[in-house]
Amino acid sequence: MTAVLIDGKAVAARVRATLKDEVAAFTAATGIQPGLATVLVGGDPASEVYVASKRKSSVAVGLADLHQHLPEDATQQQVEELLHRLAADPAVSGILLQLPVPAHLDAAPLIELIPFEKDVDGLTTMSVGLLAQNKPGLRPCTPSGVIELLDAYDVPIEGANVVVIGRSELVGRPVAQLLVNRNATVTITHSRTKDLAAVCRTADIIVAAVGVKGLVTADFVKSGAAVIDVGIHRGPEGLSGDVDFAPAAEVAGFITPVPGGVGPMTIAMLLGNTLRAAQLQHSLASASASASASA
Ligand code: NAD
Repeated sequence: MTAVLIDGKAVAARVRATLKDEVAAFTAATGIQPGLATVLVGGDPASEVYVASKRKSSVAVGLADLHQHLPEDATQQQVEELLHRLAADPAVSGILLQLPVPAHLDAAPLIELIPFEKDVDGLTTMSVGLLAQNKPGLRPCTPSGVIELLDAYDVPIEGANVVVIGRSELVGRPVAQLLVNRNATVTITHSRTKDLAAVCRTADIIVAAVGVKGLVTADFVKSGAAVIDVGIHRGPEGLSGDVDFAPAAEVAGFITPVPGGVGPMTIAMLLGNTLRAAQLQHSLASASASASASA
């Protein structure tokens, strides 16, 4: 392998260690312990594992675990009531509605009940708009993790030609926006793109968020390019990604493995968002207190 391996586990560990100090400093300065309310409806086994991991990681960096669990047969109204309560609760810095919710529920209007300053997943229309306008707000976790990895390995983003494969709301679109906001020249490709390999060969950075195992072959990769693999596929030989790793690593300059690349960054960025949410709420509350004092 000739590419530099981008070690997501190591970068995520550094992010968490820094965050632990930042959470402690924020709590010492304000008396506020930031808290994350994960909301799980029902008992989907994969969701239970993800939520347990988010809760454990939160506590490890000093965040309060404010987890909420509703039964599988919870009604839309019950979930709405819970989200309203969490939105109004000053002890709750961040709210994360674990997806997917059971099939009888409509996730989209539920997500919209999360106030932008508590939207640690960055999925509400308000957060998406703030990102599109490059205004301060909470950014989606996996896309932010991609940027963090590129920065950690000093891969230049400004002026780079980036090809993002995939246009999902969760990954493709937001990662493209984050890259544009960092002055990259970004091409978003998708299932209708013509000659994807040729488009990818123009890229200094490829971000594969496509959900097709091994789609990105060595033939897609310009010599020396950075290849970031967001895909996760479970198979008999374990986890793999959207990139055909070994051959691509012979051409790329930098490459993320699966597992151990983008995956570990997602929770680390969620924890960072929870602290940022608490900071944002604290500054909004201070601004509103000084506005009423001077009124
Ligand atoms: P998605 O299915 O919502 O979107 C996939 C996108 O890829 C679509 O926009 C589609 O147009 C495009 N696409 C599909 N087939 C294509 C093809 N042949 N050529 C070009 N484009 C094609 O998926 P998603 O939610 O964005 O997730 C993508 C992958 O990332 C999945 O494997 C998912 O498991 C993984 N993922 C990983 C993390 C993480 O933490 N590492 C987080 C989210 C998603």
